[in-house]
Amino acid sequence: MFIIALTGGIGSGKSEAAKQFSLLGVPVVDTDAIAHALTVTGAPLLKIINQKLGGNFLAADGSLNRAKLRSHIFDNKEDRLNLEAILHPAIHALALEKLVQNEMQLRPNYQILVVPLLFENNRYDALVNRILVIDCDESVQIERAMARSNLTESQVKAMMAAQVSRKTRLTGADEVIENNGQLEELVVKVANLHKKFIKTCVVNK
Ligand code: ADP
Repeated sequence: MFIIALTGGIGSGKSEAAKQFSLLGVPVVDTDAIAHALTVTGAPLLKIINQKLGGNFLAADGSLNRAKLRSHIFDNKEDRLNLEAILHPAIHALALEKLVQNEMQLRPNYQILVVPLLFENNRYDALVNRILVIDCDESVQIERAMARSNLTESQVKAMMAAQVSRKTRLTGADEVIENNGQLEELVVKVANLHKKFIKTCVVNK
């Protein structure tokens, strides 16, 4: 099956775009959602992560203190790499499993794989046939990310600085959806691209 990676910076509108593809009947595999599912309360990986990072990231009810973990790994490169070494292969394996399951569906002829940090690692390069970047002006990105996640401007800017530049993303894109406008415009752009993908995404068997 033809796999289209959907990526973009924080707050660019990846989740909104993915939702619209899904509403059109396109199978969507979201690596962020997988990461979340792998770290829900009681998940086996959670214990391993907590132990590896010093044992301070679980609340009394066993749930992960995500904000604490996020801020810890932001300041601590070694633990960020430790976390990634545990989590990323598991996310990749589960994503692959879901992509293969989706292959059983006959329609449409492509599926979407949401990978926020596609350009920051090469783990998904061999899997994807085409790259779709959701893009918007940095000021819009900051505004939306702040409102959505209750973050300060400097927190969002720090997260953006840890990601590849907008230019790098746009250079690596096969398709770009510009998402500066209203949600209705995004809906139309996704629908148009869907039509194009239906026509042009052909796998050489
Ligand atoms: P990402 O997944 O790339 O981090 P989201 O899709 O979650 O970004 O979008 C960030 C926030 O901006 C969300 O609250 C989302 O509903 C909102 N948003 C995304 N696109 C638009 C748009 N075109 N108009 C208005 N709000 C938008």
